Amino acid sequence: MVMTDLICKKRDGGALTKEEIDFMIDGYVKGTIPDYQMSAMCMAIVLKGMDDEEILNLTMAMLNSGEKIDLSGIQGIKVDKHSTGGVGDKTSLVLCPMVAACGLKIAKMSGRGLGHTGGTLDKLESFKGFSINVSDEDFIKNVNEHGIAIIGQTADIDPADKKLYALRDVTGTVPSIPLIVSSIMSKKLASGADIIVLDVKCGDGSFMKDIDHARELATKLIAIGKGAGRKTAAVVTDMDQPLGYAVGNALEVKEAISVLKGEMQGDLLELCLTIGSQMLMLAGYAKDADEARKLLKDALDSGRALDKLAEMVEAQGGDKKQVYNPSLLPTAPVQVELKATKSGYIKKIKTEEIGLISMELGGGRKTKDDIIDPAVGVVLAKKDADKVETGDVLATVHAPNQEKAEEALLKLAECFELCEEKIKREPFIKAIL
Ligand code: URA
Repeated sequence: MVMTDLICKKRDGGALTKEEIDFMIDGYVKGTIPDYQMSAMCMAIVLKGMDDEEILNLTMAMLNSGEKIDLSGIQGIKVDKHSTGGVGDKTSLVLCPMVAACGLKIAKMSGRGLGHTGGTLDKLESFKGFSINVSDEDFIKNVNEHGIAIIGQTADIDPADKKLYALRDVTGTVPSIPLIVSSIMSKKLASGADIIVLDVKCGDGSFMKDIDHARELATKLIAIGKGAGRKTAAVVTDMDQPLGYAVGNALEVKEAISVLKGEMQGDLLELCLTIGSQMLMLAGYAKDADEARKLLKDALDSGRALDKLAEMVEAQGGDKKQVYNPSLLPTAPVQVELKATKSGYIKKIKTEEIGLISMELGGGRKTKDDIIDPAVGVVLAKKDADKVETGDVLATVHAPNQEKAEEALLKLAECFELCEEKIKREPFIKAIL
């Protein structure tokens, strides 16, 4: 088989066979197919798409490129979630302790942030001493003892996705449903959970800019999960503004702790209750969404969810005092406020741009070797449809120095679009599938 022929076949709209897909993924992982041919193939897939059989075959080829995690040593039902990536997305920090406090087992491998989107591992490393590198035995032991562990993906899991994702990130080939489905589901299937709930983001701060594409992505993710024998559900949620108010690692951890302490309502809590309910229902722990929400709220109100986070932080070498006293978490030396220069209603927030501002402040990576500054980022004071008076604070920049703060402030001023007439807030949960 010759890779050039496969590229031409896809370029001309043909469907690749299982053998062709296996040949391509195997060759790419081994290094016999170079990056330039694989990037041409990815672009052909972006432009011509793949049918369901091709997507399934691609997912399986990627899954089989590496090891699969054996979670059989964990007693109980193992659940996992995955978000397609957004700005200010600290869902796992709230959701995982909450469902673990309800008795489900969280044995989770998370990722780092790249570009404008953040990663759970970077956020967790805001806790002093927290380690994401845990041996397989300690991972299983921690989940059995505490019900929860969140670690980094080990090198031998899904090497095809590691290589492909890095390539797609620099060749404009991330936003493609077949490539996103195979990337996400190959990792999730390798991670061994019994139940998978997917959070498909839709809007300016995400890869799926409109609801039709987001629904299509969700449907295809579910089909692959169910086809592989896992109980799978998906929610489609708004990413036309950051999730919650904070964007930046320690800032997001502080916000997650506020939600776990019951101090904050809003979209972040709603999302965690929605995904958590799906998990509890699929696990048979609740007969309907009302019952599931009651269990989750009880885990919050009793303080058990916050305690679960503290238990996990301590078990992975972190300082649990920072959970109960988040003012001990890293804080940026310079904080400057962006004030409104006119009154009105917030019509649009440039979400992707806010993610990029946080990255430029040092909160994210431009290249995979960049070192993260956990303290920096942006905290919004106003969100979509909020009323604003002249002089109101719109957001606060948390910066390492005055110069970076001023730069960020100028860019941030362009991120808020106001209008004169009152506007309706769009529903945050757009679909549950
Ligand atoms: N998240 C992933 O893991 N892969 C993608 O391709 C996009 C989002």
